[in-house]
Amino acid sequence: MMLPENAGLCSVCGKKKAVILCDGCNTGLCEECRKFDLWGYGCGHVDTRVFCPACFDDININPYSGKLNEST
Ligand SMILES: [Zn+2]
Ligand SMILES: [Zn+2]
Repeated sequence: MMLPENAGLCSVCGKKKAVILCDGCNTGLCEECRKFDLWGYGCGHVDTRVFCPACFDDININPYSGKLNEST
C-alpha cells in the first residue's frame, strides 16, 4: 500500500520518509528498509509483497522466504 506525502518516518531506521506499508504488520517503511518478495501461485500468477525486515524473516508471515525460528 502506498503512503501519502505526509506519511511519517520509516519505523525501521527512523531517518527516512516512509513510502510504503509492510504487508505483515502495516508499519511504515522507507525505500531502503522495505524488502520485496515474490509469492508464486500454482496457476503462474505472481504477487509482489512488501515486508519490513522482521516480517520478511518470519515464516508465519512470509512462508516463502521466512526462516523457522530454531530457538523455540
Ligand atoms: Zn528506513
Ligand atoms: Zn512488518
